[in-house]
Amino acid sequence: MGNILVTRSSMPSFEEYCEEIRKLWDSHWLTNMGAEHRELQRQLEEYFGCPHVVLYTNGHLALENVIAAMDFPKGGEVITTPFTFASTTHAIVRNGLTPVFCDVNHKDYTMDVEKIEALITEKTVAIVPVHVYGNLCDVDAIGAIAKKHGLKVIYDAAHAFAVKYRGVSSACFGDASMFSFHATKVFNTIEGGAVCFSEDSLTETLNDMKNFGIRGPESVVYVGGNAKMNEFQAAMGICNLRHLDAEIAKRGRVAARYREHLEGVPGIRLCRPQKDVEPNYAYFPAVFDGFGATRDQVFEALRCEGITARKYFYPLTNAFECYRDLPTAGLEKTPIAAFLADRVLTLPMYADLAMEDVDRICGIILSLRKG
Ligand SMILES: *Cc1c(COP(=O)(O)O)cnc(C)c1O
Repeated sequence: MGNILVTRSSMPSFEEYCEEIRKLWDSHWLTNMGAEHRELQRQLEEYFGCPHVVLYTNGHLALENVIAAMDFPKGGEVITTPFTFASTTHAIVRNGLTPVFCDVNHKDYTMDVEKIEALITEKTVAIVPVHVYGNLCDVDAIGAIAKKHGLKVIYDAAHAFAVKYRGVSSACFGDASMFSFHATKVFNTIEGGAVCFSEDSLTETLNDMKNFGIRGPESVVYVGGNAKMNEFQAAMGICNLRHLDAEIAKRGRVAARYREHLEGVPGIRLCRPQKDVEPNYAYFPAVFDGFGATRDQVFEALRCEGITARKYFYPLTNAFECYRDLPTAGLEKTPIAAFLADRVLTLPMYADLAMEDVDRICGIILSLRKG
C-alpha cells in the first residue's frame, strides 16, 4: 500500500497553469507587480471582502513587514501564543520586540482571552494571536481588550484562509491579518502570502517595504527589503482560487470520515466545530490523552505503515533553543499549550485523501486502544 504524507499541495491541471502563464511569454514581465500580481490581488480583495490586500513572496515576510509597518518602539512587548509555527514568534523578535507568551484554551487551542489582560504592562504594544488549525480566535473579546488598552491586533491567519465568522472573512478582523499561501496551506501560490487590512495608508508603506523602500525611479523612502510575489506564484494563485470551494468541500468529507471513526473514542479529543464559523478543514488535529497509546506511540505506529502524521505544534516556540532562556519563556507559564504539545498529532489531511486511506489510518490508530 502506498505511503501517505501529512499533506499534498492543491494544484490546477498542468494545462490550466500553462494557459495562465502563457501570457508571461508574451509580456516578458516576470515580477514587480505585473498583471498576474495585480489580478490576484484584485480577486483576493473581492474574495475576502477586505479593502486592501498586499501580496508577498511568503507569509513570514508579510508578518514581519506588517509588524514593522506599525512602527512600535523597540523593546515593546507583544502578547502572542507559543502554540504556533516558528514564524509567528520569529516575526515579533526580528522586529526588536519581546514576545510575551499567553496560554491557549482547551477548546479550540487559540489564545485564552481570559489570560490576556494579566499580561499587559506599560510596555505592551500589540497582540498577535493565531487562528490555529483554522480555528478562529475569539475575535470579539480580543478586539474589546485591544480597544480598552489601546493595543494593535495583528492576526496570524496563516491557517485561516476561507474561514468566516458570521459571514465575515477571517481577513477582516484586527488591524491586519497575515495569510500564508505556502504549498502546504489550504490555498497556495507555491510560496506566498498576504497582509489584509482596511487602513488606507498601510498600503503604500507595505508596498514600499517589500520593494527596497523604492517609491519611484528616483525616490527611496524606506530601509526596505525584498519580499515581492512573482508572476508565476500569482498565476498559481489565480488557478487555485478557481478550484478552492471544491477543494474545501472535499476536505470537509475527509474530516467527516475521520470523525465517524474517532469521535467519542475514549482518550481521543477532537476540536468541535465552532459556533457561527464556516470552517476550512485546514488540519485534522487529534489529542491523545489516556488513550492507551501515547501521541509518540501513535506517531510511530503510523510511520511504520508509511503514514506521516505531524507533531504540530511540538516543540512550542517558548521551548525553542533560541527562546527558552528569555525571561518571558518557560513552559510553566503556558501549561495548556505544554499539555497539548505533548499529546497532539495532526493526521493526514488534503482534498484528494481517499476515504479508504482515512479508514486505514483510523484502523491503525484504533488498534492501539487499551483493553
Ligand atoms: C505557514 C505559517 C506561517 C508562515 O508562512 P510562510 O508562507 O511559510 O512563510 C506563519 N504562521 C503559521 C501559523 C504558519 O502555519
